[in-house]
Amino acid sequence: MTATTDTATTTAAPGTHSSGDGQALIRRALAAARETRRLEVGPDLLGTIPAVFADQFGRERPAALVTDRHTLAAAGEAVLAAFAAAGHPTVEPFVFDDPALYAEHKYVEQLQAWLATHDAVPVAVGSGTINDVTKLAAHRTGRQYLSVATAASMDGYTAFGASITFKGSKQTFDCPAPQAVVADLDVIAAAPPILNAAGYADLLAKVTAGADWIVADALGIEPIDPTAWDLVQVPLMASLADPAGVRRGDIKAVGDLTRGLMMGGFAMQWTKSSRPASGAEHQFSHLWDMQHHTHGGAAPSHGFKVAVGTVAVARLYEQLLGLPLDELDIDGTVATAPTAADTEADIVRRLGDGELADKARLEMTAKSITPAALRDRLRRLREVWPTLRERLRAHLPPAAKLAEMLAAAGAPSEPEQVGISRDRLRDSYHQAYLIRRRFTVLDLAVEAGVLDASLGRLFPPLRRSFHPRARRGTASLPPGEGWGEGERRCDPVPP
Ligand SMILES: [Zn+2]
Repeated sequence: MTATTDTATTTAAPGTHSSGDGQALIRRALAAARETRRLEVGPDLLGTIPAVFADQFGRERPAALVTDRHTLAAAGEAVLAAFAAAGHPTVEPFVFDDPALYAEHKYVEQLQAWLATHDAVPVAVGSGTINDVTKLAAHRTGRQYLSVATAASMDGYTAFGASITFKGSKQTFDCPAPQAVVADLDVIAAAPPILNAAGYADLLAKVTAGADWIVADALGIEPIDPTAWDLVQVPLMASLADPAGVRRGDIKAVGDLTRGLMMGGFAMQWTKSSRPASGAEHQFSHLWDMQHHTHGGAAPSHGFKVAVGTVAVARLYEQLLGLPLDELDIDGTVATAPTAADTEADIVRRLGDGELADKARLEMTAKSITPAALRDRLRRLREVWPTLRERLRAHLPPAAKLAEMLAAAGAPSEPEQVGISRDRLRDSYHQAYLIRRRFTVLDLAVEAGVLDASLGRLFPPLRRSFHPRARRGTASLPPGEGWGEGERRCDPVPP
């Protein structure tokens, strides 16, 4: 991918990093990091962990492993043996025994209580849950920690903040990223393929997240930060180049994926915001989290929800890119823009009256603009659209291509694969717009007054499928263009 923004300074040629250049990328990321001082990514690294630990925390301070039963077997035992061989003190590891372990606040409390009984430095051996739980518990007990990544399942290892469910809803708690991260590629390549597929999707999401940032930048709403942009976007397509390799556990493919994900976290450390790594596609995932969506009895992984969101957002972009927004009727659009009362009615109609509706009120108030400000913004949109459209076209691969890449990695791309019907997905566009203040393609479509019409084209009426001629017509849609009559074939993926 080419860094298509005018403001970004590209410091490395895109798509060129190999394992050797991977080190250069990591050095640049560490230079920008506010909290993480050391990152090691490579094969056969478990034995080096005591040295990394001693380098960061000294030779006297004991290490306190935090694992679950799986990660104890996958890497924890070997790490303990390495500490023993190095003669480095450890305390008895903390092993989460609960098979239903997830990033819930009660587990943070359990770990916090245990950490309070000693002053050892936590070594989190695991993926998303173990890392998030340890990140928050370590912060609350006033210490740094070391993270040992066991799967390339998400971009949170190097990120500021922990995503924890508290009182039934997922929240991001402020807490620093780990001081050091070790990602042993032998361990990660052997992780359950479904975990690395989820991470692949979380990295692919940076494609649409980047597009949203380009839009917010062009409209003068949120300028692109060149450092964060480069960390994420310059290596992005190279990091995503081998989805089939990720699926089969190829070390190079998994290594590129792992480094790419780590860059997302570093970019978030740099900006102290998730903007570099999260756009409208993540809003679909947050929405389904807040709706407590489950599929086959369990919540689909973050990456799998984001995967469906990414394709949904890319398809919306394709609709918008076909519109002459440089000829937008500003007076007409301002005159028919939703009023505060319309927005309130929309919230009640689409989200009911619970926690989601409250969240929407807060977010919609934060991003509400006056008719005069809307007029200014639409004027700017008309002006910049020819250039903006070209930037977006250069940045965004076709939605069908993104869907193909996800499938090759073993991740879903269609809503049914995570238990979301097409009708529900269509509603989700509107709902996702309401629940977050961040300016994304959803805001662009709403403010330009084209969301409904675009969704109308993406979701042709169901009844047409029973008409033989209409059915033929739909079947001739290029793959990835929209959601017709459920004719798109999709391989089932586990929940
Ligand atoms: Zn994510």
